[in-house]
Amino acid sequence: MKALCWQGKHDVQYDTVPDPTIEHGRDAIVRVSACAICGSDLHLFDGFMPEMHKGDILGHEFMGEVVEVGRDNTALKVGDRVVVPFTITCGECDQCRVGNFSVCERTNRNASMAAKMFGHTTAGLFGYTHLTGGYAGGQAEYVRVPFADTTHIKVPDGVSDEQVLFLGDILPTGWQAAAQCEIKPTDTVAIWGAGPVGLMTVLSAILQGARQVICIDRVPERLAMAAQAGALTINFDEQSVVECLNEMTQGKGPEKCIDAVGLEAHAAGSFDAIYDRAKQAVGAETDRPHVLREMIYVCRPGGVLSIPGVYGGVVDKIPFGASMNKGLTWRMGQTHVRRWTDDLLARIVEGEIDPSFIITHTAPLAEGPELYKTFRDKHDGCVKVVLKP
Ligand code: NAD
Ligand code: ZN
Ligand code: ZN
Repeated sequence: MKALCWQGKHDVQYDTVPDPTIEHGRDAIVRVSACAICGSDLHLFDGFMPEMHKGDILGHEFMGEVVEVGRDNTALKVGDRVVVPFTITCGECDQCRVGNFSVCERTNRNASMAAKMFGHTTAGLFGYTHLTGGYAGGQAEYVRVPFADTTHIKVPDGVSDEQVLFLGDILPTGWQAAAQCEIKPTDTVAIWGAGPVGLMTVLSAILQGARQVICIDRVPERLAMAAQAGALTINFDEQSVVECLNEMTQGKGPEKCIDAVGLEAHAAGSFDAIYDRAKQAVGAETDRPHVLREMIYVCRPGGVLSIPGVYGGVVDKIPFGASMNKGLTWRMGQTHVRRWTDDLLARIVEGEIDPSFIITHTAPLAEGPELYKTFRDKHDGCVKVVLKP
């Protein structure tokens, strides 16, 4: 079959690879009808995640039709239409039982490697580093879904792939980012990043009842989409984020701050920019925490920082004293996808949410390597890429 494979930093190729087969009784094989490129894939593309191996099949946002089912899997049958959550969940461990699916204790087949790095294992993830199991991803014609009896979202006919595809990652990610803020009707929610995750977060914060949502980026077409979705916007290339946010909140700062950017944050012209890039270049710091610093500084005392943006390793010069003395609450994590998707699917079917508005590029899988670059460089107005194998 054909698949998009990671062959090194800035090198994704459309390769021929062996078809996947059932390896365990709970598995299923899914024929992929649509998949997407996520901001998290860019961290792999740009070489910021350790433990990527040449030939790894990428992709963790995908859906399709079940074509084969393992003998112990009674939850699925051939022909079912499913979206596959990017977090692989066993459904049985202590964490899965309380809905903490992204820290499932059993699905990471490289659990000891993860525990060495993080202190504990986290869930297995599709198309991601070997620290999270090194499972083949869904930017491919077919994919083996391990623990498929609990790792799927059944979707009805009558809704398009484009409407439900993002249930596997960015829609619940935006929803969880907002939910972690426990938004009150008096709250201003500031969201850094108007990429796909930032835009899903804008939509979610509004539906969860924020008084005011402010979205920060520098890419005009992304800011325009955020405005269209109901946010006020700040272009960080043209304005001081901290000054603007203070002005828009009568000098008090936003109650809730969300980092939908992660470890590759830009920091135009500031000392931070030079410092982080220099340290990252020599391997003395893995991540660029510019957004975290800005959030700590501007967040209203007693407020919440919610962090869906991905970090991989260590960060430097975090003003922890400011955070401690202002009494800020930090909440973060890879998304517990299945915790949110029954509710979100119902909202899509009822027409309350249509996340497909962010799709700017739809193309055959073969064009994936080129579109990784287009998405990374934000060329051609690219906000979200959907690929059809
Ligand atoms: P993206 O790269 O398309 O979007 C990031 C946006 O941030 C870009 O538009 C960029 O211009 C903007 N940006 C850069 N520096 C900024 C700054 N200093 N201030 C404000 N905006 C800035 O990626 P995406 O798909 O939207 O993903 C965003 C992040 O969410 C990534 O780190 C990704 O790995 C992460 N993610 C996390 C989860 C999860 O489970 N927690 C799931 C999906 C994605
Ligand atoms: Zn993702
Ligand atoms: Zn589990």
